[in-house]
Amino acid sequence: MRVKSLSSDRVEVAEPPPARQNPSMTKQSKTRSRIGHFSPNPDLSGYENLVGTCRLCDTEIIVNRATDLRGTYPSSRVIFKCPNCGRGLRPGGDIANHPVDQFIYDAYEPMRKRRYMQAVLLTAQSLELALSMCVRQAILANLPTPNRLRKTSPILKVAVTLNATLDQLTLEPLRKVVANLAFKARPTTIQEALDAIAAFDKLRKKQPKDSEIAGLTDTDLQEAVGRLVGIPNFVKLRNKVVHEALRPTQSQAEWCMENIPKLTRALLRGFGIARGQLVMPPTA
Ligand SMILES: [Zn+2]
Repeated sequence: MRVKSLSSDRVEVAEPPPARQNPSMTKQSKTRSRIGHFSPNPDLSGYENLVGTCRLCDTEIIVNRATDLRGTYPSSRVIFKCPNCGRGLRPGGDIANHPVDQFIYDAYEPMRKRRYMQAVLLTAQSLELALSMCVRQAILANLPTPNRLRKTSPILKVAVTLNATLDQLTLEPLRKVVANLAFKARPTTIQEALDAIAAFDKLRKKQPKDSEIAGLTDTDLQEAVGRLVGIPNFVKLRNKVVHEALRPTQSQAEWCMENIPKLTRALLRGFGIARGQLVMPPTA
């Protein structure tokens, strides 16, 4: 969604002005080997893009991390080609938020423009990512890891099976699996992990009872599961937006913007996932 609006922006800001091509071209090719400075604007940059100014041609450009920066995140000091002047550029710095948070930050602009469908979808994307992280943590975190990971390492078989199973889970079953995993001991052997993944089929069909949630001794986890079982209407709303192009109201979108970040924070805390906010100081 954000990608769309940015790439359409790109046509306006990053298209090379035709006049620039002729007289300066020879001069440019002589200095082609010099790496120029690119200063990203943190207010305009996000999880997918770095937006800033090429200091060699003084043009604002939108750099796409997956396309131009080999998917790095943060992308400080990764050299790329300026789409306008074609010369090598190095970003002077980069501040990268955790994607769970970034999806929410990306929803502020559609909220301001009263585009509530986008806001609801971005909050759902943030939640689905957080839920997938919880599943991975619950299944993989306590498994023995070899000193050197090989293609034949058993833990990779677990990871592959887990990914294939996660691919089959839409938001509602994923929500129930995570809520139930909060009550399960974490697998410590490869076989236990594979059995735990096979059991998702049952977990996706039931929801923990209030009395069970009250019995959780870990208060962070209790808060997370409590919030998670309390959002069936959010899942319905998200599905209606996706499947029926429902237009949400302002108050529905505001509910998502307020409550989904609280839920994802509780989930990451409850499942013991390090926030890992990636911050690179500017290096100019
Ligand atoms: Zn340039």
